[in-house]
Amino acid sequence: MSELYDVTIIGGGTTGLYTAFYSGMRDLKTKVIEYQPELGGKVSFFYPEKKLYDVGGFPGVLGEDLVVNVKEQALSVQPTIVTGEKITDFEKQEDGTIVLTASTGEQHYTRTVIVASGLGTYDMRPLDVEGSHFYEGNHIHYTIQNLMQYTGQKAAVISENRVGLDWALALENVAAEVHLINRGAEFKAVYENDLEKLKQSGVHVHMEAKVEKLEGTESELEGVILDNGKQIQTNHLLVYEGLQIDKSLYDQWGLVTDKGRLPVGTDMATSMEGVFVAGDAAVYPSKTMLIASGFNEAMTAVNSAKSFIDPKAKSQVYSTVIYKHGNNE
Ligand SMILES: Cc1cc2nc3c(=O)[nH]c(=O)nc-3n(C[C@H](O)[C@H](O)[C@H](O)COP(=O)(O)OP(=O)(O)OC[C@H]3O[C@@H](n4cnc5c(N)ncnc54)[C@H](O)[C@@H]3O)c2cc1C
Repeated sequence: MSELYDVTIIGGGTTGLYTAFYSGMRDLKTKVIEYQPELGGKVSFFYPEKKLYDVGGFPGVLGEDLVVNVKEQALSVQPTIVTGEKITDFEKQEDGTIVLTASTGEQHYTRTVIVASGLGTYDMRPLDVEGSHFYEGNHIHYTIQNLMQYTGQKAAVISENRVGLDWALALENVAAEVHLINRGAEFKAVYENDLEKLKQSGVHVHMEAKVEKLEGTESELEGVILDNGKQIQTNHLLVYEGLQIDKSLYDQWGLVTDKGRLPVGTDMATSMEGVFVAGDAAVYPSKTMLIASGFNEAMTAVNSAKSFIDPKAKSQVYSTVIYKHGNNE
């Protein structure tokens, strides 16, 4: 049997990471399980390069920088972090231990669970062109994690959505040449002024066109051929053809749900003893789906888990009291 943890957090987004920090601070043996290979949840996935202005203490912070900080804070208390595993099954044993089973078959044993898995898992719809597996990661990308990597390069964006248009305009500032390939006759969900910016830009737009063939060696992408016969030289393809969303099946785990989320009171306890929730997965009157709300709910969920494991424990503590005894410099 794998080691028994006090708290296992499902989800390594901003909420899950802050939950891990707070759980460690409360001397709970803590594990985080995240489906994606990287931590950071929606912030890393959708908007690493967006500036956030509504997180307390930061007059303005890039999404990716916030993730770096919250990760560093979590790691300071040394939780066990598991990535690339998706929890699919949830079982409570007679002695109260909860067994979480991942899609890989791995099992995790825990006294309490804090669900910080938002609305479920996300995957980008992959490019469906023969040979694309040769270039995934190095030449075919599904997010812009580092705009500067395209400096002086030739890049083509495949998308019929606003996201792709945004990417093309951002790339134009650094890349030598940018193409935008749209399979449709128009762009979906775009703002008028973005279309105007596109017209004024040097981006080469190809409407009603699909990538039919990839050209290059097994390791270097050199270009693409469109279904209208046009040949484009490019070293990078950035693909946004929508998302595949796999909603969390909290009801199948035996939890009471409300429109796919977990209804809670002020203690962040779900309908199952020993199972708490924080972040976008939680719902209660006037709930806001914001990063800062997740941080606050994380503290409450951890304090509730602590009381569940040790009913005599203090209901809350101050970090300064703990850190002056040696965790900090
Ligand atoms: C486009 C956009 C812009 C936004 N802008 C702002 C903003 O400016 N300011 C702000 O405060 N908020 C903003 N938000 C909202 C904010 O992103 C969310 O409130 C916040 O990210 C929620 O964090 P979370 O950790 O609760 O959930 P998530 O970030 O969704 O993290 C959940 C994690 O759990 C993982 N997971 C799910 N199911 C499983 C499973 N079964 N097993 C293992 N792992 C699992 C997922 O892969 C994911 O990493 C924005 C949201 C979007 C979409």
